[in-house]
Amino acid sequence: MLLSVNGICVAYDKISALTDVSIECDQGEIVSIIGANGAGKSTLMKSIMGRVKPSHGTIFFHGEAITGLPGHKIVEKGIVCVPEGREIFNGLSVQDNLEVGAISRSFSPKEMKAHFEMVYDMFPILAEKRGQIAGALSGGQQQMLALGRGLMSDPTLMMLDEPSLGLAPIVVDEVFDFIKKINNENGISVILVEQNAYMALEISRRGYVLENGSISREGASNALINDPTIKSAYLGK
Ligand code: ATP
Repeated sequence: MLLSVNGICVAYDKISALTDVSIECDQGEIVSIIGANGAGKSTLMKSIMGRVKPSHGTIFFHGEAITGLPGHKIVEKGIVCVPEGREIFNGLSVQDNLEVGAISRSFSPKEMKAHFEMVYDMFPILAEKRGQIAGALSGGQQQMLALGRGLMSDPTLMMLDEPSLGLAPIVVDEVFDFIKKINNENGISVILVEQNAYMALEISRRGYVLENGSISREGASNALINDPTIKSAYLGK
């Protein structure tokens, strides 16, 4: 198993955000995590990235416990998170934003060049705008920049927190095509946290439903997508 989160509990002050949460992601999988606002999805991502510390439970990556390691060590091991809201540096150029993605890795100049080339090949619009400031990009282009910055760290596992947020439907389709490509062509495993549950379940193999800080359902995405209770709660059907 690539990633195993085993029974983690997280509380902010004394208020519980995650209770006994376990999820897994295998090599090459896209796994989706769906849930309402405040269900704990971002907290789960932050726990994996070492940004919040679970009080109980263990997180394994390639069979090694990584719970509580600092964020840069986790990136070094091959996990990257593309955060909710993208967190682009608006005043920096596209190229400099991409370079930030490689900061936790000690790549040689040759490796850096190869990573830039891979990202610019995947996102030609970023190559075209490499010298422009990131703040001038459209929302969709900024999401591509966030994905590209994640790819610059040469991850094995990418976690995407709400990549469709605030984007027009046609742009969401484009972003989801890139997510499929990152998985298919680059062989990167993906954990996809989404409010847009239908689209997330459509491109993932398995899914988990997070409800009030606990996993309430899990299974094959095509079973979840056809489940009447999930349809009415999360798919608006
Ligand atoms: P959203 O989709 O709105 O981002 P989410 O599913 O990602 O929601 P979290 O952001 O993980 O949910 O929040 C889970 C719970 O923890 C919520 O009740 C939230 O208010 C609380 N919480 C999150 N961050 C903090 C924090 N820094 N301090 C205190 N409470 C927090």
